[in-house]
Amino acid sequence: MHILCCGGIGEHGRSCLLLKADDGSCLMVDCGVAHELTPGHPGRYPSLPADLPDAFPLLLTHTHEDHVAAVPRLIAEGYRPQVYASSLTAELAPGYCRTWLKTVDKAIAASGGQRPYSEEDISAIAWHMLPHDGACRIGPWTLRHGMAAHAPGSCWFHLSHAERPSFSIGISGDWTTKSVVYPSPEFPSCDLFITDASGSEKDDEGREQLETLLSCFRERPILLPLPVIGRSQEMLAVMASMPELTGTAGAVVMDRTLVNGLDIWLKDKNISARGRATLIRAKQLFESGQWVAVSRAEDIPHGPRVIGAANAMLSSGLSAAAGRQVLAEDGLILFSGHAAPGTPGRQLLDSGHPQSRRLPWKVHPSIHDVEKAASAVRPSAMILVHTPLDKARSMAAQLESRCGTKVFAPAVGDMLTI
Ligand SMILES: [Zn+2]
Ligand SMILES: [Zn+2]
Repeated sequence: MHILCCGGIGEHGRSCLLLKADDGSCLMVDCGVAHELTPGHPGRYPSLPADLPDAFPLLLTHTHEDHVAAVPRLIAEGYRPQVYASSLTAELAPGYCRTWLKTVDKAIAASGGQRPYSEEDISAIAWHMLPHDGACRIGPWTLRHGMAAHAPGSCWFHLSHAERPSFSIGISGDWTTKSVVYPSPEFPSCDLFITDASGSEKDDEGREQLETLLSCFRERPILLPLPVIGRSQEMLAVMASMPELTGTAGAVVMDRTLVNGLDIWLKDKNISARGRATLIRAKQLFESGQWVAVSRAEDIPHGPRVIGAANAMLSSGLSAAAGRQVLAEDGLILFSGHAAPGTPGRQLLDSGHPQSRRLPWKVHPSIHDVEKAASAVRPSAMILVHTPLDKARSMAAQLESRCGTKVFAPAVGDMLTI
């Protein structure tokens, strides 16, 4: 069996792994984009081998653009992937691809480049829903999956091949133990564990920081640029349990697309009872008018309050307009996720702008989380993915000595034979 690193390994973005069995059968896991908009090159895509067959199964761990937004590009290039995902990922991923296409179109209009695919390629994706639980067979592969606590519908995978059924590969997808609405994921034991290693090394608590930072909402406007689905709704769940925010009319003003995201989360059967209750509470605060949902930038009120708007990097949507407004009003902008190079959010942070701050929000595992997972999974080898090479290498060295397991930190283009 060979594992080919096509993207998202030794780097962040364009996640894509290709498993190739000795009988030639291939299986791809994720096919995303790197959100890097350099002049003439709107986005980076997985680096695919020349001998990739026309048709192959493609498993998607979750719906974020760095895992799904390059799938239509495969179709535009003539491949016919059969795409397997949880029902929520299948429902949400086309929207993520459309958003990516809009971002690219904007970048092309400003500084040239080529469109990676069209709307027709997005509509042509051949979807296969994974069963809610249990194992399934995809050609010679046997697949199990479970929830990864990272985003609605996010999954880990456990794979074996008919040629060598006793050997199993666990693929964590993006995962976290810090979700406020999901229980922690439970990975089954496997021989090779391929895990997200992109959390910060410190085990600091995003939730506590959010509460501290939001406590100054009465003095100045605070903007949270957020993804449409993901930590946005987790943050709403945290805010719904903060009396100073729930007790003040209009204290929270949110982009309607983020509020609508609450219903998407509530569809996920894997969220905890407590998580469900806090999401419902947040929804009720908007329904009762205590908190305000807005659809247009001009409806965002002036003055101190907490504002949440998509997109997460201030590049488009309500957050771009809200960002200008909050800066003009001496407010604070809190970035809680990956800020891709070339985006207004990254520029603001890199310039050390006094009105911008990073608020680490844990949707990825820390080294301690990875170490704990390894002691449960007991693999004979691990591969660290979804993080820059220098960080992956330093983590690999630490984990090797702590876990007594071989830990690899490969780079894009590398092929591992197991
Ligand atoms: Zn993700
Ligand atoms: Zn990711």
